[in-house]
Amino acid sequence: MCCRGDKHSIEKILQGFNAFSKVSGLKANNSKTEVYACGMEEEELQQIIRDSGYKRGSLPFKYLGVPICSRRIGVGQCEKLVEAMTARIKTWSSRHLSFAGRCQLINSVLLSIHQYWAQVFVLPTKVLRDIEKVCRAYLWNGEWFSDSPGYIAWKNVYRRKKSGGLGFRNIHTWNTASMAKHVWALARKQDNLWVRWIHAVYLKDNDWWEYQPPQDCSWYWKKICEVKERLKKIFTREEICSMEKFSVQKIYTGLDDQIDEVQWVDNVWNRFNIPKHKFCAWLAIQDRLPTAVRMHRWGPHIIRTCSLCEQGDESGSHLFFECPYSSDFLLKVKQWLGISYPANSLEGLYKWITRRGKYQKAKQASYNAAITAAVYFIWYARNQVKHGKNRPSVEQMMDQLKFQVIQKLRMINTDKLNNRERMWLNQIMY
Ligand SMILES: [Zn+2]
Repeated sequence: MCCRGDKHSIEKILQGFNAFSKVSGLKANNSKTEVYACGMEEEELQQIIRDSGYKRGSLPFKYLGVPICSRRIGVGQCEKLVEAMTARIKTWSSRHLSFAGRCQLINSVLLSIHQYWAQVFVLPTKVLRDIEKVCRAYLWNGEWFSDSPGYIAWKNVYRRKKSGGLGFRNIHTWNTASMAKHVWALARKQDNLWVRWIHAVYLKDNDWWEYQPPQDCSWYWKKICEVKERLKKIFTREEICSMEKFSVQKIYTGLDDQIDEVQWVDNVWNRFNIPKHKFCAWLAIQDRLPTAVRMHRWGPHIIRTCSLCEQGDESGSHLFFECPYSSDFLLKVKQWLGISYPANSLEGLYKWITRRGKYQKAKQASYNAAITAAVYFIWYARNQVKHGKNRPSVEQMMDQLKFQVIQKLRMINTDKLNNRERMWLNQIMY
C-alpha cells in the first residue's frame, strides 16, 4: 500500500486495515510487515512505526524478485539479473549444445528473465550491454564469457529471420516498448492512482502528447517522456489511444528497424531442415563461416589452403562449389534428387529451388532440406580434417545425409500432395 508520508494519511490507512481485519478475520503479520519512507521527518516516522507496530524497512527492497527503490535503479541493483543469467549459462556451457540449441535457450530463457524486469524498470544501458555480452559469448562460443567477436554483428543477429537475423528480441527496444505502457495509460487517461498523480503533479492542464518535461523533474519521468517522443515518430496519438489493451509486442514490432527481407529465408529456415543444418547454412549464405580465407584476414599466419583438396584457397565459394571433393559430393546429392541445375553459388541454388512454385511443395521441401544438409556436411568434413581426423568418403557422407534428411521428410503430410508429388517422394525415400 502506498500513501502520502504524513501522520493523517497513515492513520487512515491503518484504520482501513483494522476495518478489513474485523470483517475478514485476516490480520497482517507484524514481524513480516515493513514500512518504507522517503523524504519524511525522522520524528514523524518514528511515531508511525510505534503506532503501527510494523518494522522499519530500508530501500531498495525486493518485491516479486525485483528491487524497489525511490530513485533511478542503479547498475549494482541489477547485478542479480545479470548473475541469474550467467548462472544458467554456466550450467549449460558444460553440456555442449549445438548452435541451434543455444539459440533456443537464449531466446526462451535468457530473454524471459529480462522481459520480467523490463516491464518494471527502464534498465541502465550498461546492464543491457552486460546481458548482451553473456548471450553473445554463449551463442558463439558456448561459454558465459568470451572476448572474441562473433561471426555476425550482434545488431544483425537481433533482426527478424525474414531480414536475415536470428529473430532474438532486441532487449533495448523491448525495454522501450514495455515502458510505452505508461505513455499509453496517460494518453488514454486510465483511471489509476499513478495516472491521476502524474496529471496532478506534472501534466496539470497540458496536453500529454505535446508535453515537454521540466529540467528539474525526476530521471524516470524524463525517460517516460523520451519514450513518448520515440513513439510519436512511429504511431499517431489515435493509434495509441485506440488500443483497448496494451500490447508490448505491437509497440515492439512498430519500433523495430524495418530492414529489407532476404530472399533465402524460407530456404534456410524451412521447417523440414534440420536445426543444426539451418544454422550452418545461415552463416554460409552470408559468407560468415570461419573459412581459412576469412581467418587469414585476422591472423596472417593462418594457412589459406583448403583442407579438403589441398589445392585452392579455402573461401566460401571454393569450399562449397569449386572444391573437387565438395563438387563430387554435391553432384551426388543433386543426382539423388534429380536436380540438373548447374549452380555455382548457394544463393543461386536456393533461388532456383524457390522458383519451383506452389505445386511442387514436397520437391521444394526436399531440395531445401538436402541442399542445406549438404552445406552442413561439407563444413563438417572440413572440420574433421582440420582437427586431424580422416576425411570422410563422399559415399559415407551421402549415406549420412540421406539418412538424416529422409527422417525429416517423413514429417511431410502426403495426404495433401498430388499423385505425381507423392510418387516422387516415395521414389527418393525408399
Ligand atoms: Zn578444396
